[in-house]
Amino acid sequence: MGQGVIAEAWEPEESELFRQMIHDEVDKWVDKLSEVFAEDQRPTLMEMSELFTKTRQEFLGSCLETLIEQKYADLLEQQYAPCPKCGKICKNRGNNSKEIFTMQGPSVVKRPWFYCTDCSYGFSPLDSVLEISRKKHQFDIQKKSVSLSADTTFTRASEHFKDLTGQGISDHFIHETFEAVGLEAYLEDVIPSQEEIRKRIKQVSNGKRRPILVVASDGAHLPTRPKAGRSEKRGKGRWQEAKGFRVYLLSKKRIIHIASWHQIQNEDQFGKDLALVASRIPQELVRIGLLGDGADYLWKHMTVSFPKGRQILDYYHCAEHIYKVAKAQYGEKSFKALEWVESTISRLFFAEVGNVIRGLRRMEPKNDDAQEEIRKLIGYLNNNREKIHYQGDRKGGYPIGSGGIESAHKFIAHTRMKRSGAWWVKETGDGMLRIRCAIYNGTYDNVFERYKSTSLPQF
Ligand SMILES: [Zn+2]
Repeated sequence: MGQGVIAEAWEPEESELFRQMIHDEVDKWVDKLSEVFAEDQRPTLMEMSELFTKTRQEFLGSCLETLIEQKYADLLEQQYAPCPKCGKICKNRGNNSKEIFTMQGPSVVKRPWFYCTDCSYGFSPLDSVLEISRKKHQFDIQKKSVSLSADTTFTRASEHFKDLTGQGISDHFIHETFEAVGLEAYLEDVIPSQEEIRKRIKQVSNGKRRPILVVASDGAHLPTRPKAGRSEKRGKGRWQEAKGFRVYLLSKKRIIHIASWHQIQNEDQFGKDLALVASRIPQELVRIGLLGDGADYLWKHMTVSFPKGRQILDYYHCAEHIYKVAKAQYGEKSFKALEWVESTISRLFFAEVGNVIRGLRRMEPKNDDAQEEIRKLIGYLNNNREKIHYQGDRKGGYPIGSGGIESAHKFIAHTRMKRSGAWWVKETGDGMLRIRCAIYNGTYDNVFERYKSTSLPQF
């Protein structure tokens, strides 16, 4: 129930009156359906179902209208109301009709309108009690269409919506609402609460060893373009890095997702965001594994936020660097290359980083390219020496590769953002990332509530 609703039981007469009014609506609907009794009509099941879809909107919309009229009769007859801004008592200025659309269909709300001359402010007490959106399409529609468009293009979302509900909403409306919700999607709401995180940790705790919580960070490049008005020439696009992380729990059988967060942002902001998430995690209840590639900034922030975390160089990234040397030195897919890769990886598995580096130093580079790749690999291994201990990770039950973040990136960023070949304005792209993260994290309801409360008049 919305705020300020005083739920009083209906008197029997009221309830009877409502029943009568709904019956009248049913009669009107039946009249519309009666066309199937025309002489030469033998509609199929599908045709009949479509007739229902087409006609039920008006029927249900009217029912909703009737319900409002009955339930809020006192507000519909209100003669005086205090101005929400200054409290001055204002007189009813007559009825004002507003056409609204909900998931049920179109309705008209006829309610008294008040105007405070001191504040030059018009208002309707009924609108605030019912939480009526200033837009024609109400919050239930806004909520569903925005989450739909997080999965597919705005044009397709509009088509699907019409297809499934029988109600048309324009792609422009969806886009506009999407941007407004995206603006209100803050990290604080997108990330589950501390209580929720505790609950998920409890699910995987078996009372013996503390469960493992993985923090995996990575960047993904997204196509962006500068903002331009409709008539202006579009600016040149460029690829920008969306930095992000995913936090999840490992149990014997499955992965329990906690939170994903990705934004086109700089390193500082990334660090601040990670710190906020870290502050919600009861770190003493878990063993923490930090996963990342060689990027220094990721490690800097991960170790600040999770000082007790075990640092693990992402195995897949590490292997990629090794393949590069093998390819340059021994030729792609040669037996020698394969052999060298296998022995190098198995030495790294046993944490023999020093041996591998010495071996690389002894190599005689085949050419300049090979020399460069060898030099880079030596630097990379030296830099990340302390984070290479895959055998020990395995024994402790830690993951060695961030398959997790890779798939999260694919899911959060790639599927929607790279699909149409569209270039994203940074703000819209970030909004898309935030809403997709919220849906994935199970927090979209909170995000939408925040948007709703900010879009209702504030006093
Ligand atoms: Zn006033």
